[in-house]
Amino acid sequence: MQRQARPFAQVLIPSPLKEPLTYAVPPSMHERLEIGMRVQVPLGKRKVTGVIVDFIAETTLGKIREILAPLDEQPILDRSLLQLAHWASRYYLAPFGEVLSAVLPPTLRAEARRVVLPQPGEFVLSAKLAKEILAEIRGKKGRMTVKSLARKFPGRSVYRALDRLAALGAVKIVEQPARQQSRTHGEPLLDGPSKSADWSKPTPTREQKEAIEFVRERLNGGGFETILLYGVTGSGKTEVYLRAVEETRNLGKRSLILVPEISLTPQLLDRLEARFPGRVGVLHSGLTRSDHWSQWWRIAAGFADVVVGARSAIFAPVLDVGLIVVDEEHDPSYKQDEGLRYHARDLAIVRAKLAGCVALLGSATPSIESFENCRQGRYRLLELTKRVEERSLPRVEMVDLRSDRDSQLEIRSAKPIRLFSYRLSEALKENYGRGRQSLLFLNRRGFANFLQCYLCGFVFRCSHCSVTLTYHLKRPQLFCHHCGFRQLVRDTCPACGNSSLKGIGVGTQQIEEELSRLIPQARVGRMDRDSIQGKGSPERLFRKWEKGEIDIMVGTQMITKGHDIAKVTLVGVLLADQSLNIPDFRAAERTFQLLTQVAGRAGRGEEPGEVIVQTYAPEHYTFQYVASHDYRGFFAAELDSRRALAYPPFARLAHLKIEGPKAAEIENRARQLGELLREEQKANPGRWGKIEILGPAPAPIQKLRGRYRWQILLKGKKGGSLLELAARAADLFPDSRHSRLHIDVDPYNML
Ligand code: ADP
Ligand code: ZN
Repeated sequence: MQRQARPFAQVLIPSPLKEPLTYAVPPSMHERLEIGMRVQVPLGKRKVTGVIVDFIAETTLGKIREILAPLDEQPILDRSLLQLAHWASRYYLAPFGEVLSAVLPPTLRAEARRVVLPQPGEFVLSAKLAKEILAEIRGKKGRMTVKSLARKFPGRSVYRALDRLAALGAVKIVEQPARQQSRTHGEPLLDGPSKSADWSKPTPTREQKEAIEFVRERLNGGGFETILLYGVTGSGKTEVYLRAVEETRNLGKRSLILVPEISLTPQLLDRLEARFPGRVGVLHSGLTRSDHWSQWWRIAAGFADVVVGARSAIFAPVLDVGLIVVDEEHDPSYKQDEGLRYHARDLAIVRAKLAGCVALLGSATPSIESFENCRQGRYRLLELTKRVEERSLPRVEMVDLRSDRDSQLEIRSAKPIRLFSYRLSEALKENYGRGRQSLLFLNRRGFANFLQCYLCGFVFRCSHCSVTLTYHLKRPQLFCHHCGFRQLVRDTCPACGNSSLKGIGVGTQQIEEELSRLIPQARVGRMDRDSIQGKGSPERLFRKWEKGEIDIMVGTQMITKGHDIAKVTLVGVLLADQSLNIPDFRAAERTFQLLTQVAGRAGRGEEPGEVIVQTYAPEHYTFQYVASHDYRGFFAAELDSRRALAYPPFARLAHLKIEGPKAAEIENRARQLGELLREEQKANPGRWGKIEILGPAPAPIQKLRGRYRWQILLKGKKGGSLLELAARAADLFPDSRHSRLHIDVDPYNML
């Protein structure tokens, strides 16, 4: 009834449009349309899919076009999700339509997926076209896509006719994935938990019980609150999440769990499936298109009580969300660095606030920002200080590579480079001898193995990006990790002509080879971006490890997360200081997190664990706090340094990146933008006077994928005025064919 008075709808189209467009609602649709439903609308000469975000009573616009057809019978995006999208668009300075693209996956926009099914019964049809359409479908295969019908009756109002047929009940319009559907609506994706493990419900420890009680009361009380569960590695945080999910379900609501990289956490999925059989939804980018599509629908239709997903699942269409969990909340993979540059943990808190529910963040190494929020009383802190079943934290030992002469990476020596200190070699042999598993972590952040001439110093670089090419031993080949450029390895140096090339740095392959010399009988597994590509899922490898079929697992960042293998008793860290050397104010924080997490993989079973960290800088405060398992100590030291340098959480940042194919033009435009911003600042000292404008300067990686890059960093104490100035930059910088401006609010990667 109310809608009668609102003859216009605001329709948002997933495209870089800043605002929704206004369309007229045909009288036949007044009763049926609601906010959050998809509709088909004309746009220029095309017909596109959009979402109704509002109804309005009047408009000053002249020529208004009509909505062609409703695409849903129920809203598929609820109000709080639309509000979240709107919030994200304002905060991240992104067009509202672009945010909708993140919320509504492409598989839900295509017309080819809509199928018309005739329904049994006789229908009195007055319109000629409706009769013809019905006869056509009934005559043919008994089903036709909307698109093929539109093609069959060109120039006629097929959509209007279909809408009438659907209203009469003569046809049903359903959505199907383009290719043969592997699973249908409502069917779970998981094949049930792994049989090899015991997934029964453990009795909570005293600390777990307290945390569970608190969360339970909070859930029952209703309303928004952010809780940070700071629990050491192996303290059983997952159990707290699971109980919270259970309670949420008892309250008739649904839960959303975000994890850093879902393909790497089969154990969590196993546990969820065991507790909530058939009621788990999964969303991540690794799913096939049709699986993604059917999962999305299961979730939107309310078939899943708990939804697990990586970063983008923050936009999952969970109805009645009562709990949002962010596991490993400190993890950098929650930050999206391209397109819509958002932070999923931060959006989780906003979504919880909009939905009026609980956000539960968990980590053994909370981000400095989150822990500071607890200290300031904005978040509630819950702690798990002990590992379950009285297991002790592993003993962490530093090995100073400078004094371990044997293991120096000697460029000129003819013998193979030694990667393991004497201490680590012996520990590996001993652990293998005792039939236990070991894990070797290669810290490769900001580090690449490259090929260098040891006589003239020549290094192979990518001709498109200004970074060193990575040297792959097995192929052998040189590879650019930014743009994918490949080059075969030659025997002689292109600069001086001598046969004096030598691989510098280390890759996981090299470690694998060295291990086979050290312990020839050991079964070695390798897990990094390269090794899991093509070889199927990391899940298979992971299962082998779980079953004890791998003695030593070698890997990069991937192996530091979430795994829980009882028999791993030794963890070795190679090149621990690499991640300290990147130009980023979070370098120490990331290093602390990485090392603490990987150390936490040791000794999770009955046997205590041991960690050996090889470094050239054992005196660095980060390593000291890793060794003493002292998060609070690290936090205090790090917070002091952030305060002194005015970095987050004491300031907010907006990173302006200017890029394009021509070096001179990019430099000019960056300088020009810098000047314009400074003029703006002078003209508005009250508003922007306190904002620091750093740069313009060339980016640390000056050239990437053939594009030159410059940057300006805005730093300010107040978020509001900072965003305003960043938005002003966008106005001052009209994109041209040869230069683009990207704005990254709360940046994580400034290379
Ligand atoms: P975290 O995420 O805090 O590192 P997990 O949640 O992975 O730790 O738990 C570590 C291990 O302890 C898992 O194998 C889990 O099944 C087990 N566990 C959790 N809670 C208990 C408990 N109360 N009693 C016994 N084992 C438990
Ligand atoms: Zn490149």
